[in-house]
Amino acid sequence: MKRKRAWAEPYKIKMIEHLHMTTPEERRRFIEEAGYNTFLLRSKDVYIDLLTDSGTSAMSDRQWAQIMLGDEAYAGSKDFLDMEAAVREYYGYQYVVPTHQGRAAEHLISKIMIKPGDFVPGNMYFTTTRLHQELAGGTFVDVIVDEAHDPESDFTFKGNINLQKLEELIIDKGPEKIPYVSMATTVNMAGGQPISMSNLRALRMLTSKYNIPIVHDMTRVAENAYMIQQYEEDYRHKTVAEIVREICDLTDMATMSAKKDALVNIGGFLAVNDYEVFEEARSLVVVYEGLHTYGGMAGRDMGALAVGIRESVSDEHIKARVGQVQYLGNKLLEAGIPIVHPIGTHGVFLNAKQFLPHIPQDQFPAQSLAAELYLDSGVRAMERGIVSAGRNKKTGEHNYPKLELVRLTIPRRVYTQSHMDVVADSVEAVYDKRENIGGLKMVFEPKYLRFFQARFEPVPVGWELVGNEELSYSK
Ligand SMILES: *Cc1c(COP(=O)(O)O)cnc(C)c1O
Repeated sequence: MKRKRAWAEPYKIKMIEHLHMTTPEERRRFIEEAGYNTFLLRSKDVYIDLLTDSGTSAMSDRQWAQIMLGDEAYAGSKDFLDMEAAVREYYGYQYVVPTHQGRAAEHLISKIMIKPGDFVPGNMYFTTTRLHQELAGGTFVDVIVDEAHDPESDFTFKGNINLQKLEELIIDKGPEKIPYVSMATTVNMAGGQPISMSNLRALRMLTSKYNIPIVHDMTRVAENAYMIQQYEEDYRHKTVAEIVREICDLTDMATMSAKKDALVNIGGFLAVNDYEVFEEARSLVVVYEGLHTYGGMAGRDMGALAVGIRESVSDEHIKARVGQVQYLGNKLLEAGIPIVHPIGTHGVFLNAKQFLPHIPQDQFPAQSLAAELYLDSGVRAMERGIVSAGRNKKTGEHNYPKLELVRLTIPRRVYTQSHMDVVADSVEAVYDKRENIGGLKMVFEPKYLRFFQARFEPVPVGWELVGNEELSYSK
């Protein structure tokens, strides 16, 4: 048998940032003060921060060099032109409107494309994407394959769209009611799961038949391309850059949160091929973001983004990036921890329903598990379950998602394999004491995207909520 070689990060460290260690007593106090919501912790009180991979990546020396070279002209900055050129070269979209981050691009495209009463099908929702569709008067319809809702299924391309479901929706509502299909490369809420090229090609054929455009949420397109390269027969010998380009070429427009794949701390854009949509976006961006050659970004940030795009599609980079996530995931699998299968590309998702089966979903098991992990080691994760799913717009009830997850999201190029070992140890420690972990009740709920600012209090193990306030012992 061929011996498997150890592998290491394809970069070395030029500058370090000190981490702050805390005691268990301090962490108890900090999580109480944060209302058991890891979003409300101070970052200085966190040891290993796996809250998100958004804007938390380490920039390269070349990107930092661009920060110094930034052209801060109000109009026509060279850095905008560099960024536009990088988008055209690597993604192939013709027209680029910069925005301060991804949701701003979603805001623009939703306003331009969606009329009240429209339906927007997509491969599972993303929080900000769906909210902007709804604020524009649309209704989001999930047309992802059923496997995506099953954390046990080992299907490789859980980001695929169920084309039959989609066509039924088009026929039922009429193509004129469907302004576009919202297609994300790697589906965040399903656990960072990719869509296959063959599914995307079939989607292109179906949407062309009805003359419906595809809006590509390209937040993690390079990670998705890497999975296609690894698992789709015809793509084994193509580079990630080639596959990225092929994905983009099958779609009509794209929203980008450059804080993820593109290796910058802030930034995003809307990119389109249709000149009329571009014209409209270019005039709207001035209202909401800034002039069309900076859209809420500093010149230096656009310069760093141009370099980040180039670095993000390198095979070396993406192999190590996804490899680190897989390393952590495999360690947890070996320890028998219930996680979402298969392991995604930007994080490992703990299956809180299985981890804490004794906590009913309306006592927020994933929220509670994230708090417990922080208490154990200072590792910060986030809830992706009933809190994130929000309430039904009509009935006001909680949406009860099938997936109740805690996301351990890995920033790009920030932590080493040893940090991953510490995280795995801590998850195992929490798993060993899982029976003593209770649920939570929500004591403050914001109107929009409640998971960011909601506050909770502990519910002792074995207690049940009656109404919204009262507690009674149920066992
Ligand atoms: C982060 C993200 C967004 C929104 O981008 P922001 O830069 O956070 O505004 C949209 N879609 C997906 C899939 C994301 O992960």
